[in-house]
Amino acid sequence: MSKTVMEHADASEVFNRDEPYVNWHDETLWFVRQKRDKSSKQLPEWEELREAASGIKHYVLSHLDELLISFEQKAKENGVQVHWAANAAEHNEIVLGLLKQHKIDKMVKSKSMLTEECHMNEFLQKNGIEVIDTDLGERIVQLRNEPPSHIVLPAIHLKKKDIGDLFHEHLGTDAGATDPQYLTEAARQHLRDKFLTRRAALTGVNFAVAETGGFVVSTNEGNADMGAHLADIHIACMGFEKIIPKQEHLGVFLRLLARSATGQPITTYSSHFKKPREGQEMHIVIVDNGRSTQLGRKDFRNSLKCIRCGACMNTCPVYRRSGGHSYHNAVAGPIGSILAPNLDMTKNADLPFASTLCGSCSNVCPVKIDIHDQLYKWRQVLAKEGHVPKSKEIGIRAMSTVLAAPRFYQWSGRLGRTVMRAMPFMVNNGLNPWYKQRDMPEPPKESFRDWYVRNRKN
Ligand code: SF4
Repeated sequence: MSKTVMEHADASEVFNRDEPYVNWHDETLWFVRQKRDKSSKQLPEWEELREAASGIKHYVLSHLDELLISFEQKAKENGVQVHWAANAAEHNEIVLGLLKQHKIDKMVKSKSMLTEECHMNEFLQKNGIEVIDTDLGERIVQLRNEPPSHIVLPAIHLKKKDIGDLFHEHLGTDAGATDPQYLTEAARQHLRDKFLTRRAALTGVNFAVAETGGFVVSTNEGNADMGAHLADIHIACMGFEKIIPKQEHLGVFLRLLARSATGQPITTYSSHFKKPREGQEMHIVIVDNGRSTQLGRKDFRNSLKCIRCGACMNTCPVYRRSGGHSYHNAVAGPIGSILAPNLDMTKNADLPFASTLCGSCSNVCPVKIDIHDQLYKWRQVLAKEGHVPKSKEIGIRAMSTVLAAPRFYQWSGRLGRTVMRAMPFMVNNGLNPWYKQRDMPEPPKESFRDWYVRNRKN
């Protein structure tokens, strides 16, 4: 992996140095997971909804060609201009081109993980465009000059005090203020002026409907609507997997999305966009950026069913105790660890190993993606393609030799127990990463096999 990026295990070690903070992060995410549980249990048809969503997405992934063409045709009929981008660079150039065409150098943007994936903000800023994120969490991390750490809760790694200090520095709020109401009001006033003065607004797309050419953007703050309704030009960017066949399917996905994400019965604003208002231009940029490749990987294509609810992150014991930034990818957590190696196997080879494979992610996923199975499969692919460290490869080969020869296995067990008893420092030392956070248990007097043979005789 690139030397400039810290591997997940190393970044997690840094994150774990402050134990009370890690416990707080863990509990905060677990609280969101519990809200999701309560909310989902209120719907007797929850499992049927998950099944239906998974089935619809399965259909989508097998009919992308027709659905996307139908969407484009309908959108054009509605007066929307449609653009296609093969990769992140093309996406960014399209957005820049539209802004330049209108001589616009300032834009507001609501939450869009796709633009994070494409590193659009950095690209536009290098080209003289100021981008203001209007989602509160996104604006907070933007002011801190860091990426979001969670796809739904971008600033979940920060405490009220961090935000108070940040707003004091950038927005001039009172020093030491931590009252959420006061700080939110300050952000509101700060953003209002941006909404009123920017001529361009970019939004993400949660669901694009092939049948109508319309699309839905879900937010809790109404910031996407405020930006899009006030701007002369509205640019909506979507990964091509956001397409759904029919308007009636929205009922399935909107109910699942909000409950899975935050435990709310419905997102505060589910805004339906279909055509530009009079005098406005509306553009949709449909992006591939590696999605076709993932679609062609039969073991991983189901990952494209993802509706970005974040539930797999909230439940993941590794995410909760390592933080989103340790994943060095726009999308963190279990689903990010499946999507990232598809984009760059060398850089992201560590991520599928950042999991206990406990399966909790798959259990909560509203579209029933087999997340932990895919993480396990990625490990095999990465090993075959030569992307795991040599030390791990040699260790696994040695282990497979031992496990394949019963007598050798018994002898190795005896040797190991003897060494641990006589020379514990051979195992319990700083060179053994396993020992860093654990106490080595006392070695048993005999192996289970010896115990079993002895007791069976008795
Ligand atoms: S993989 Fe499933 S649980 Fe995770 S973000 Fe996507 S839809 Fe949500």
